[in-house]
Amino acid sequence: MTYQRTLSNQWYDRATELIPGGVNSPVRAFKSVGGKPIYFAKAHGVIVTDVDGNAYTDFCLSWGPLILGHADPEVVAAVQAAAPLGLTYGACHPGEVAMAEALVGAFPGMGMARLVSSGTEAVMTALRLARGATGRPLIVKFEGGYHGHVDSLLVKAGSGLVTLADSGSEASTKGVPKEVAGLTITLPFDDLPAVEKLFAEHGERIAAIILEPLPANNGLLFQTDAFLAGLRSITAKHGALLIFDEVISGFRLRYGSYGQGAGVQPDLITLGKIVGGGMPLGAIVGSTQLLSLLAPVGPVYQAGTLSGNPVSIAAGLATLAKLRDPALYRRLDQLGAYLEHKLQATGIEWLRGRRVGSIFWPYFDVGPIPNRADAISPVAVQRFNGMYHLMLQAGLYLPPSAYEVLFLSSRHTEADIDRLVAAWVSAAAQLP
Ligand SMILES: *Cc1c(COP(=O)(O)O)cnc(C)c1O
Repeated sequence: MTYQRTLSNQWYDRATELIPGGVNSPVRAFKSVGGKPIYFAKAHGVIVTDVDGNAYTDFCLSWGPLILGHADPEVVAAVQAAAPLGLTYGACHPGEVAMAEALVGAFPGMGMARLVSSGTEAVMTALRLARGATGRPLIVKFEGGYHGHVDSLLVKAGSGLVTLADSGSEASTKGVPKEVAGLTITLPFDDLPAVEKLFAEHGERIAAIILEPLPANNGLLFQTDAFLAGLRSITAKHGALLIFDEVISGFRLRYGSYGQGAGVQPDLITLGKIVGGGMPLGAIVGSTQLLSLLAPVGPVYQAGTLSGNPVSIAAGLATLAKLRDPALYRRLDQLGAYLEHKLQATGIEWLRGRRVGSIFWPYFDVGPIPNRADAISPVAVQRFNGMYHLMLQAGLYLPPSAYEVLFLSSRHTEADIDRLVAAWVSAAAQLP
């Protein structure tokens, strides 16, 4: 069976005249795998169907939110019940209180939450809060960490080691002035001495370290618990905040925080993706003392017309209610383990990857699987890209980039994983 995408291609061609690159978020374009992105018409469970009627098993799952799969019946019912009662009030409603209560209850030691509409907004707010709380200007991030399209975080270091803010941080996008980029310092992951050195020299000017405790936006760059704990003690010693960006990892591996599960208590946690159950919702969670610095109680301004709207809240609460069942996470872990096992059994040495729970990063090369962005093998990237369209032809929709992770949902089955592995094996045989 060959998948024809005549209508999809027509939509794309028309879209490119109206929307830059035909996409509303660059990751959706097929830049690294080549070809034209697919236009979808509907999705249920793990099946997405394009406008030509081709069905694919989805391992991208909207980049993380859909831990229950597409259009979960209970989530959709909650949205359907909420929508006729008003899409947004721009005013208070009980659902906001229920969501804040659920979030605070899921993160030990946290006392308050502020709801926003995206992960980017949550991160923006966390940074402003950290600067407001400390009165300091600098933010530290790690190379390969992604925190949304916040101006000051679209920055990577000019060189691998400690690149000082005022001597060469370069924005990785046009449109961010060097004065703004200069407030961000980028360090390599997995290198505590570099963090110690930076704080020894500039600690009194650093407001916060922000990182994904399980970095999942540049491959899956696993960090040790000792690294996370080290960041906690360095920031505490120097009076800086530790922000865990858990927009992906929050509620993905367990009910609550991945970082707290590793035994480390951050000052702030940013959330998005899963908490909205597929609708736009993000949150900042922290201590009552810190969150009380936000307007209208405190001096740090933050606002949003659609923040905490009842429809997003309904989807989020319905999702969280289902995630309270630990059996769901056990099942997800079982599926992940099954995928690893099946890959191992292929006998193709390089057909492998790194898995944590229901997150899987295909890493198609031999040798150690990297935990730093600069150690990712170009061969692994080439192989993934080279096989991408064969996967589509096999009815499998993967994130269109070798640097992105696959997500499993509670709706995937062993049979879906069998098909994924079989398609990779057959594609591997066709590589040059
Ligand atoms: C997706 C993501 C963001 C940005 O969230 P948006 O909802 O896309 O704005 C921020 N941080 C991390 C870790 C993410 O994965």
